[in-house]
Amino acid sequence: MNSLSINDFHTMPNDFPDLDVYAVVGNPIAHSKSPVIHQRFAEQAKQKMHYGRIQAELGDFAKVAKSFFAAGGMGLNITIPFKLDAQAFAEVLTPRAQLAGAVNTLYRQNSQIFGDNTDGAGLVRDLLAQGLQLRGARILLLGAGGAARGAMGPLLEQSPKQLIIANRSSAKANDLAQLFGGLAKTNGVELASSTLNELEDPKKGHTPFELVINATAAGLSGESPLSAQAADNIFIPSSFAYEMVYGKSTAFMQQALQRGARVSDGLGMLVEQAADAFLIWRGAKLNLMIDPRSVLAKLRHSCD
Ligand code: NDP
Repeated sequence: MNSLSINDFHTMPNDFPDLDVYAVVGNPIAHSKSPVIHQRFAEQAKQKMHYGRIQAELGDFAKVAKSFFAAGGMGLNITIPFKLDAQAFAEVLTPRAQLAGAVNTLYRQNSQIFGDNTDGAGLVRDLLAQGLQLRGARILLLGAGGAARGAMGPLLEQSPKQLIIANRSSAKANDLAQLFGGLAKTNGVELASSTLNELEDPKKGHTPFELVINATAAGLSGESPLSAQAADNIFIPSSFAYEMVYGKSTAFMQQALQRGARVSDGLGMLVEQAADAFLIWRGAKLNLMIDPRSVLAKLRHSCD
């Protein structure tokens, strides 16, 4: 088993003959919190398993995943930049992975590799756990990449009043609005797309939103997708600003705080999507034994 990337962080299934082995694959991956999250779930649910990290080189995902499963690996989580490669690798896609257009969880069932996507469900559970009322809410979703697409289905299923997708480039936001038009109609949601620039224009009728989700990657480079004018139009003190990036207070979060809104980073989403993956792998009935909110609280404490 030496065909895995050389940047393998103690993950080769052969090295753990008595344990079920799982891993997260990404690039970079050294700072991933997924191993510690899954270790805590395993302790809570009294499961014997090992969860490691694999840094795959770009273009190598399929080779790495194939080697991992061939060596007896039980499941993989997938993070940036491999979620589309994982979708292509899966032999069967769950309906929500199909809808999300990306895979963040792989597992073997009846000798086939299944691909699922737990990101959107994780986001919604974190929002609900933080007391957000999504039914009937007016929601602004910033970004139209993989994370935004994964969030669309679970958000629409909560039947908000309105969901506006705003992206830097209009084509991607329009595509998402079109793709999810049917689901929006079924759930009675007014769905529309916009550019980020249009959020600056009061004539476009964008009044403040109850929930603004930043699903852009702008926070990673220290930027906000919103101009000051757009932030003035969008946030009021009763708004809730959710940043998918975690572990730092981003420019987007600062804009919301300056206008009196409540904010959250995406650490809870990370923990909740991991909880779903854990239950897919280890059995849904362990739901009663794991406590994602206590895992999140400990993680926050250790980050402080
Ligand atoms: P993608 O590369 O698929 O999409 C990136 C999106 O961000 C696009 O809509 C892009 O717009 C937009 N964007 C990038 N830079 C800027 C900028 N400077 N200003 C405005 N818009 C910008 O990435 P993902 O969708 O996979 O991930 C998005 C973010 O979500 C990442 O930061 C990621 O870390 C986070 N994430 C967090 C998770 C969690 O568990 N907390 C889970 C998944 C993702 P355009 O189309 O115009 O290029």
